[in-house]
Amino acid sequence: MFTEANTPAADIPAGDGETNGFATLGLHAALVRAVADSGYTTPTEVQGRAIPPALAGQDLRVSSSTGSGKTASFVLPALTRVLAARGDGKRREKGVVHGPRILVLTPTRELAMQVSKAASTYGTHVQGLRVATIVGGVPYGAQLKALRGPLDVLIATPGRLMDHMASGKAILANVEMLVLDEADRMLDMGFIDDIRHIAESLPQERQTVMYSATFAGHVGRLAAELLRDDAQTIDVASHTDTHENIEQRLHWADNGQHKNALLDQILSERDMEQAVVFTSTQRDADWLADRLADMGHHVASLHGGMPQGRRTRVLQGLRNKQLRVLVATDVAARGIDVPTISHVINYGLPMKAEDYVHRIGRTGRAGRNGLAITLAEAPDAGMIRRIQQFTTQQIPVATIAGLEPQKPAPRLFTQRREGGFGGGAGGDRPRGRPFNKGGFRSGGGDRPAFGGPRNGGGFKSSPRQR
Ligand code: AMP
Repeated sequence: MFTEANTPAADIPAGDGETNGFATLGLHAALVRAVADSGYTTPTEVQGRAIPPALAGQDLRVSSSTGSGKTASFVLPALTRVLAARGDGKRREKGVVHGPRILVLTPTRELAMQVSKAASTYGTHVQGLRVATIVGGVPYGAQLKALRGPLDVLIATPGRLMDHMASGKAILANVEMLVLDEADRMLDMGFIDDIRHIAESLPQERQTVMYSATFAGHVGRLAAELLRDDAQTIDVASHTDTHENIEQRLHWADNGQHKNALLDQILSERDMEQAVVFTSTQRDADWLADRLADMGHHVASLHGGMPQGRRTRVLQGLRNKQLRVLVATDVAARGIDVPTISHVINYGLPMKAEDYVHRIGRTGRAGRNGLAITLAEAPDAGMIRRIQQFTTQQIPVATIAGLEPQKPAPRLFTQRREGGFGGGAGGDRPRGRPFNKGGFRSGGGDRPAFGGPRNGGGFKSSPRQR
């Protein structure tokens, strides 16, 4: 998620120096101490949201990227299990190989090493903690020895673990918690059958937590197989994500009428497969959906004021393509995981900058490209500025031929920001994606009058490669 290398924990909030937020999550004091030793006092979003249900034994489906603090979000609950077992007074019989209580599967050796390091760091006050790492590309000897000894946590890549299972050396009969880290990458690497086989060898009543950038397609189906029906879904967008596969554009509108004309044009573009149009209020969502329906669009609104049954039916309509346009509010945004959404259009801006990130994340799913278009009027400039500061990226300004704004674009930046971006709307390149990619005209240039001839409404640029 980091836009630059070597900026660890860049988006992780600083602690307040007085209370330790990890204690309030219900973690054992030994773990809170170890986390504090590492200098962390405030849980990151994924930690705050995943740790309590994980401690309660729930299965989890978590979307969260590297750098969000996700490793600790499963290592800490895992170590809590180890500590609980230490305290249950039941001694494990000597001379019998019990195998680990916790099994973590990772796609690569590097990730396995990172998880192993986190387990040792956060487990530093867990007496006699035994962690083993089983990865490919290294000799078997030390791994066999580790598997024979008493073991609390086993971190493995699927291929090598399968080898040890085949030779009967890996005992997995006592696994209480299975973690799949970066499940989508494991599937990309062809590990699906190995994962299935490993999971089948574990006790039925285990807890399973799955981390993946997406749960669409194969990985979603695997999640449905491995997780219990009441598994909780946690979706954490990372705000400095560069969203490489999502192209962002900002269109300035002179007024509401101009904004509607821009929206109508965008919705009539041929490469528009399905769109989610966001409004600021439920009333606007209903009003806009009615307006678009009158124009002949297959459209519905989705917002928190609707009964759950209707919301589910609307989402189903989007999934089975009966709907081409969904008009939604922020409350509804997080539950929308439909890979065919090609466009996200911000018709009304969000109240909070982080909601912008949740919104644009509705497109570009399952490895596809997406387009996130923001339609803004002059009074929205403050919010646009906050969004750009929050994401540390500039949204390139674009125009549509024949629908160019007449008013000059509001100035978003008046001074250079250290380590960020500066200049006017046509200023420095953002850190994430190249500015003005695709040859869009940046704001502030000469513009023909709004309402002039429409050249079929094509975007004023070379066509985008999608
Ligand atoms: P991860 O997403 O697990 O790869 O973690 C990214 C980085 O954030 C690692 O260097 C962690 O040590 C660090 N980290 C994890 N939790 C916190 C936290 N609560 N506060 C600050 N940094 C953290």
